[in-house]
Amino acid sequence: MTTPLFVEIRDEIVEAGPMSLARYMALCLGHPIHGYYRTRDPLGARGDFVTAPEISQMFGELIGIWIAVTWASMGGPSDLVLTELGPGRGTLMADALRALGRAAPDFQPAVHLVETSPLLRAAQASRLGAVSPTWHDGIETLPEGPMIVVANEFFDALPVRQFQRTERGWCERLVGLSPDGGRLTFGLAAEPDREISAQAPVGVLMTVPAPALGISRNLSRRIVAQGGALLAIDYGHVRPGFGDTFQAVSAHRFADPLLFPGEADLTTHVDFAALGRAARGEGARIDGPLDQGAFLLNLGLRQRADRLKVGASRAQADAVDTAFHRLTASGKRGMGSLFQAIGIADPRLPVLSGFTPS
Ligand code: SAH
Repeated sequence: MTTPLFVEIRDEIVEAGPMSLARYMALCLGHPIHGYYRTRDPLGARGDFVTAPEISQMFGELIGIWIAVTWASMGGPSDLVLTELGPGRGTLMADALRALGRAAPDFQPAVHLVETSPLLRAAQASRLGAVSPTWHDGIETLPEGPMIVVANEFFDALPVRQFQRTERGWCERLVGLSPDGGRLTFGLAAEPDREISAQAPVGVLMTVPAPALGISRNLSRRIVAQGGALLAIDYGHVRPGFGDTFQAVSAHRFADPLLFPGEADLTTHVDFAALGRAARGEGARIDGPLDQGAFLLNLGLRQRADRLKVGASRAQADAVDTAFHRLTASGKRGMGSLFQAIGIADPRLPVLSGFTPS
């Protein structure tokens, strides 16, 4: 069985040769007609995966408080550019703005959303229409000014390149065709990439999150020049970029990433160490990374959960407890330590809220 996108990818490989993993991921996720994010809303119980803001309103509310505290520490600029990267259904921003409205009623920031999916843009419009957000295809068009940026499960959806250490040097991992042309296979470029100087034993795989590093550098430069901070929460690791975390998820299960192009979500763990190095190189300060569970507890998740349970029915209180557990528990079933929070800050700001115990 093939997918419409398989046919396009096959034709491109026949014409131009095997493609980089970054090209393959960009087509699978962002192809204007067949791309995964263009054709569906992947979030929620009936989708392919569930994200923290879809688990509980508490997640977005705490981020709203984080935004209010960060804004106050910046001196409360009236021209703040509040930006979310990859806002999904708009749930996080809707919950955050509600909490923000209570914590800082006079603060009504301009809301900017970076989103490529028309379907998800429509979902965001229906949740956030009241604040008249501005949409962007990329970060390049965001307006000047001090900014606060939030990004939950955004960086893991960006394309990466991979290189394998061979006797010849670091050779790029490419997506090509099986001899009969019927399916996609992994291969390696014949010639090594001479610009990579990293040392590692033969066989080791290195992942280079090129677009993510570009975004980290660009926003860090802005934050240092114009003030502000970025909060990213993602499925990630702080080890160096060796090892393979490229994976496909479909209907809540792992799938073969080459089998049904365009039909599965493709991600890699976010290399926070590399994102941090890119940000520091521009003069920004890094806070964290810290386990999502610890970060949310520092922001007051326990207190928020207790508040929600006051006067709640038994079923509602159980739902709050279940969400609390999923957001904070470590191990495979919870998100508490699989997910990490990292802050990129203007070095003039105090340590960002949530990164030190309150
Ligand atoms: N933050 C949301 C959604 C996470 S899914 C949540 O936590 O629920 C990833 C989001 O990033 C989706 O909204 C997807 O459409 C968007 N996205 C993926 N690649 C993108 C790109 N290259 N540019 C902008 N948005 C992108």
